[in-house]
Amino acid sequence: RVKAEGRNGWCFFKPEMDEQLQRRLEMEQDLKRALADNQFQLYFQPLLNLDTQEITSFEALLRWHHPVRGMVSPAEFIPVAEESGLIGPLGEWVLKTACNAAATWSQPWRIAVNISPLQFRHKSLPVLVKKALKAAGLPASRLELEITESVLLENEKQNLSILTQIRDMGVRIAMDDFGTGYSSLSYLRAFPFDKIKIDQSFVRDLPHDRDALSIIRAITDMAQSLGVRITAEGVETQAQMDALKELGCHEAQGYLIGRPAPGIEAYCPEVMTVTKTVAA
Ligand code: C2E
Ligand code: MG
Ligand code: MG
Ligand code: MG
Repeated sequence: RVKAEGRNGWCFFKPEMDEQLQRRLEMEQDLKRALADNQFQLYFQPLLNLDTQEITSFEALLRWHHPVRGMVSPAEFIPVAEESGLIGPLGEWVLKTACNAAATWSQPWRIAVNISPLQFRHKSLPVLVKKALKAAGLPASRLELEITESVLLENEKQNLSILTQIRDMGVRIAMDDFGTGYSSLSYLRAFPFDKIKIDQSFVRDLPHDRDALSIIRAITDMAQSLGVRITAEGVETQAQMDALKELGCHEAQGYLIGRPAPGIEAYCPEVMTVTKTVAA
């Protein structure tokens, strides 16, 4: 496992690791060029309010079009970007590009941006957020940052202060992938999250799996009393969506509602008309 070995973990070497290591080193080299060569693109996936059946926001999901390998999954390249320090400039690009995109939308949908825990370590995140909003002319209330609990696992005091500064600007903060990792309930007391996103691994087993049902019920009960909104990720079937609504989830995201796509035109009739006119 290349990742588990970490930066200084190369004490021994097996031939079968050679290929994996090679691929990783190549990816790191390629990533360094990718930003300058415009190989990154943001896709957008809608989030649906289960009470009003209206779109509330879109999550920005990063895509890398590798010149030879084609589309590389963020699950593969984000860890490499994190280990090589490239997540700094890359994360900054995502933040700017996402805010710029949202500023062009005809509806006041929010834009949700994933932030790596490592982005808390380098340049001042509150400053970068403020700059991105200002450059785009986007109100802070239309930006939501998705973080994972690992942000609160290390440098807890410092990261809490960073999060508080950002939230005081009016930006919303969501906890992503809830239910994976440690998911200590104390994190929810430590910081006033606006939203919790229940990981898709729980949603997958709905509507029949009793354990998944009771875990989601426990999360929604707790969220209700804390006044936190609950989004379910990875909703693929109507039966899952019905169960989630029944359980008290406020919002859903998943292929059932819409797959990540390079634009939001499908949700925006006016823009579609303009596109058609231009094309005609
Ligand atoms: P995430 O933030 O939890 O994003 C949700 C992931 O679930 C996305 O995968 C999305 O395409 C996928 N998904 C959405 N609906 C469904 C569904 O109904 N079924 C299934 N099976 N999957 C669904 P994606 O785009 O491959 O991204 C994977 C992860 O990479 C993200 O998980 C996030 O942690 C990370 N990531 C993506 N973009 C960025 C970024 O700009 N910055 C950072 N730091 N991380 C990012
Ligand atoms: Mg996310
Ligand atoms: Mg997630
Ligand atoms: Mg995830």
